[in-house]
Amino acid sequence: MKLCDRRAKIVATIGPATASKEALEKAIRSGMNVARLNFSHGTHEDHAKVIHWIRELTVSMNAPVSLLQDLQGPKVRVGRFKEGSITLIPGEKVEMTVEKIQGEAKLIPSDFPELIESVQVGSRILLDDGLIELLVTRKLSQSRLEVEVIYGGLLKDRKGMNLPGAKLPVECMTDKDLADLKFGLAQSVDYVALSFVRKGKDIRQLREMIDAANSSAKIIAKIEMLEALENLEEIARLSDAVMVARGDLAVEVGQSRLPGFQKKIITLCNRLGKPVITATQMLDSMVENPRPTRAEITDVANAVLDGSDALMLSAESASGAYPFKCIQTMHEIIVEVERNEEKYYKLSLDDEFLSVPAAIGASASLSALKLKATAIVCLTTTGKTANIIAAFRPRAKILAVTDRIDVLNKLELSWGIQTLTIQPYKTMEDILVQVDRLLVEYGLARTGDRIIVTLGQPIEANGKTNSMFVHTVGADQFSRLEDKDLPLRCRRNPMA
Ligand code: ATP
Ligand code: MG
Ligand code: MG
Repeated sequence: MKLCDRRAKIVATIGPATASKEALEKAIRSGMNVARLNFSHGTHEDHAKVIHWIRELTVSMNAPVSLLQDLQGPKVRVGRFKEGSITLIPGEKVEMTVEKIQGEAKLIPSDFPELIESVQVGSRILLDDGLIELLVTRKLSQSRLEVEVIYGGLLKDRKGMNLPGAKLPVECMTDKDLADLKFGLAQSVDYVALSFVRKGKDIRQLREMIDAANSSAKIIAKIEMLEALENLEEIARLSDAVMVARGDLAVEVGQSRLPGFQKKIITLCNRLGKPVITATQMLDSMVENPRPTRAEITDVANAVLDGSDALMLSAESASGAYPFKCIQTMHEIIVEVERNEEKYYKLSLDDEFLSVPAAIGASASLSALKLKATAIVCLTTTGKTANIIAAFRPRAKILAVTDRIDVLNKLELSWGIQTLTIQPYKTMEDILVQVDRLLVEYGLARTGDRIIVTLGQPIEANGKTNSMFVHTVGADQFSRLEDKDLPLRCRRNPMA
């Protein structure tokens, strides 16, 4: 069995197009590393089913997958339409209502009770990540507005709404988010993504809730507000990972500033050793077409070159016509960039080391480079050191080895990390016998290859990473490739 060598990971949003066990298996085979459940859509029952299937498939396919719960946050949305969608024609006048009714031609319901007070005649309302633009022309009543369509198009159920300049609710988590979080933590999701983060305090509050629930879930800060950009470093330090949420971010900061901010956020996360996801519209035209545009192909490649740990698919995999083809296409573009780009694996040692594991991670990456080592094997209990090593972007494989399944699943989000399970170890012999056997069995290294190993010493104390050593596979007194029955697990090669 061959492992998947792709370094940048793929996050796929699960929705009607992918929410069956068969479809999820296909998505994993196509290269999905992380399954994102957007709690803006679907019921708890729908999400519970997907979570259950993914966990089953992880075992049966021997393929770790991260589960990402995306909380809606204080997002304003349009309601549902009798026919599922309506078409808005430029120049026509339509009504918006906050009454709890279904929409129809020329009537758009909204779930935002304060809509009428939040806008004035002359205000603009943007729908579906800014694709559709409306101009408020009249307040008709306490519950209805008249708007003129400036830029029209097809408006589907539950699309997002932005009110530039209007004040939104202050709290980052709504009652719905609290209920969703409780559900997600009970389901043992790996990551919780928080929408519309503004400051460090938002992350601290979520962390307290996760700790109080005794959960090991990690936090992803979605950067999609100007205020979050002002507090970016604090937010990134407090979070476990970051998402460049380009949909709302572009509307919020003005579209032409988006590329600059994308690069800035990614660079900062790389420096801090925090995984960073680039999201929204990466292969958007593939929602309807079997092929991406040239611009999309280049966007995917550039996001990889910018330093993204992972790239995300939204509607492409949730509700598009070619969900698996999208994942495969993304996989192929990433693999090609990684094969050809020399600068991509540039080991930068300019920054100060932020911790002892960072010093070990840098030394391991440098030694691997100079000794032409095949792999950096990182013995890890929390996954933290593996992430730090990944941030140095070494060309050698990064193999995170642990006996904790939830850590394996979580590391599926991180750049370049492949995961292997071993049995709990107490001595160096325990470690090397198992590591050598795993590497040879999975074709990750051959007898005689050099590898770099990082770990915390003393071994039995299970402490923080503080050491590294160079090991030759199969050459050691311990490495007797015994025929022990070890529970080997790793990631399979996607069929793409
Ligand atoms: P966000 O601001 O969180 O990105 P979004 O509405 O843009 O919210 P995405 O996750 O980006 O949502 O997905 C894009 C589209 O895919 C959604 O607008 C919706 O039409 C569809 N979609 C996603 N998840 C689901 C789901 N579970 N059920 C139905 N449709 C979904
Ligand atoms: Mg979106
Ligand atoms: Mg968003």
